[in-house]
Amino acid sequence: MNQLLLLQAIAFATQKHRTQRRKDGKTPYINHPVHVALILADIGGVEDAEVLAAAALHDTVEDTDTTFEEIEAHFGAGVRSLVEEVTDDNTLSPQAQKQYQVDHASDLSRGAALIRIADKTSNVTDLYEAPAKNWTVERRQKYLVWAETMVNECNPVNRALEDNFWAIAEKAREQLGMRSNKVA
Ligand code: ZN
Repeated sequence: MNQLLLLQAIAFATQKHRTQRRKDGKTPYINHPVHVALILADIGGVEDAEVLAAAALHDTVEDTDTTFEEIEAHFGAGVRSLVEEVTDDNTLSPQAQKQYQVDHASDLSRGAALIRIADKTSNVTDLYEAPAKNWTVERRQKYLVWAETMVNECNPVNRALEDNFWAIAEKAREQLGMRSNKVA
């Protein structure tokens, strides 16, 4: 594996997100993209350096001043294309962005689907470990249902990663007082 590419991506994302915090208002933002890359490598057994680098970079264009051209210049066209696939169109409303993600989940390349599932795994973990400061339980429940729909719409790409997502979602359901997904 090209470790240098991954380390450079982590360094780049750390710099770009340096002033940002997660929605809980405390956690440094960079913890999230690093968590996403870690989930892919550790749980999913992913060894493709471009996928792991793109995971580390996946929120830089959406949430910082980073451009796709910049990503391509530093990390190549493959990483750029993965980041592009998982970046929301900021001209759409948040609701339309969510709908778009669901509608186009099955069009994602294998690498982008891996990143998407790991991203949702990290965010669903945060629903109970580091909840957003001003989110009500209802809003967290809604997010969880949407994340589940999203993962259901992705093509199956990695059994271990998908099983892990559903285990985390189950735990989130329990914590949020929701019905289990498991059929009795
Ligand atoms: Zn993310």
